[in-house]
Amino acid sequence: MTTIKLHNTRTRTKEDFVPIDPDNVRMYVCGPTVYDRAHLGNARPVVVFDVLYRLLRHVYGADHVTYVRNFTDVDDKINATALARKQAGAEGTLEQLVQERSDETIGWYLHDMGALGTLEPNEMPRATQFIAQMIAMIEDLIAKGHAYAAEGHVLFAVDSWKESYGKLSGRSVDDMIAGARVEVAPYKKNPMDFVLWKPSTDELPGWDSPWGRGRPGWHIECSAMSYELLGESFDIHGGGNDLMFPHHENEIAQSKCAHPHGEFARVWLHNEMLQVEGKKMSKSLGNFFTVHDLLEQGVPGEVIRFVFLQTHYRKPMDWTEKKAREAERTLRKFYAQAAQGVGYGEPHPQIVNFLADDLNTAGAIAELHQLSIADDVVGLRHSLQFLGLLGKDVPSWADTASVDLSAHADRLAKARVSAMENKDFSEVDRLKAAYVAAGLEVRMSKEGVELVPGAGFDAAKLEEV
Ligand code: AMP
Ligand code: ZN
Repeated sequence: MTTIKLHNTRTRTKEDFVPIDPDNVRMYVCGPTVYDRAHLGNARPVVVFDVLYRLLRHVYGADHVTYVRNFTDVDDKINATALARKQAGAEGTLEQLVQERSDETIGWYLHDMGALGTLEPNEMPRATQFIAQMIAMIEDLIAKGHAYAAEGHVLFAVDSWKESYGKLSGRSVDDMIAGARVEVAPYKKNPMDFVLWKPSTDELPGWDSPWGRGRPGWHIECSAMSYELLGESFDIHGGGNDLMFPHHENEIAQSKCAHPHGEFARVWLHNEMLQVEGKKMSKSLGNFFTVHDLLEQGVPGEVIRFVFLQTHYRKPMDWTEKKAREAERTLRKFYAQAAQGVGYGEPHPQIVNFLADDLNTAGAIAELHQLSIADDVVGLRHSLQFLGLLGKDVPSWADTASVDLSAHADRLAKARVSAMENKDFSEVDRLKAAYVAAGLEVRMSKEGVELVPGAGFDAAKLEEV
């Protein structure tokens, strides 16, 4: 059996991965807060952990892996959107509008991530479905002396777990207090104490609890959901490295204190951040965009995924338009070869070896190039499928084989001849616009007409011409 090596943030070393139970390998990844469309950076952990999920399924069997990724649907920003809609005259209670916003965002998320070739996790729990379990966990933490109620809030007492708090990110409680800008509140015993439960207003979503009507803090959501779905010890916990502190640190504190005999997560994996053209993605720099924006612009999901896979997950990755153009060219070439094979099958062993080495996706892509050079069309096809870059068929945007471009070129050439006779170029203009919209470059000269597939060519759009 292939030995998978993974870099464990907890031990800061690359380790052989040994599952607790090879019949049920368990992974939890922190999912999105569903207040708006996912930006391109949000897609990085989704693609990274999709690659790991595929690898685990390959090594341990598709039925022997449980992947859980949550939706955080309790959040001020969701509430704010719902409130704005209500004020703009939308029908329904605020609570219904909140639910509507989460539902619509989750729908977008699954669609956009699906376009990137990611498999859906086995379980996608929503925080609002696990409130009772969160309350129970908080009560247990209070009973064990790790949390206290104050002014409608419940706080985790970091001093009750001081030796261990901060180990994952490598800081002590005293360092944190000195360095961090923490919210000082009169009801906190230690400024680093964090919220497990907080009061809610009558209008906004809230649940009855022993501490009054309120709502959970963000961190307790993941501790409660991972416990319910994966147990007190599971194999892998993942997320972006921006979540390491405080989110993951707090998850560990809660889970280890509530279930002292459990290990919580054995292996912690963190992906580095995504940048755009060398800069941090931010609304103020004007380089902020969503996955949906890119898809709408005609950048195929496979191209986005391919660009992502070129950079190792523990390195910052830079999204550039140049990389996207090159990825598209490469994929067109790969697909033309892969289309000569049929069905699904085993990926090339070298591809698996690269991924087993702490998800060396760049190595796997280098191997795809080798397979292409060797014209191993079957190996290439099955390896592309394994990497999530190809489904059953070549995607329509790359499928030039199934359309007769010369027939379209003839049609445009004939239209030009009659246009010159009639002095009416409207049909020529219409055709040209339609071909450009389908992603074709239109070259018209005295010699004739040529249609060349360019970036974003979509054969499906030719059907309407
Ligand atoms: P959020 O909805 O902000 O909690 O983020 C959801 C996921 O996206 C988390 O795992 C974050 O670590 C990840 N994430 C957010 N921004 C970036 C970025 N620029 N690059 C990579 N991952 C990111
Ligand atoms: Zn989490």
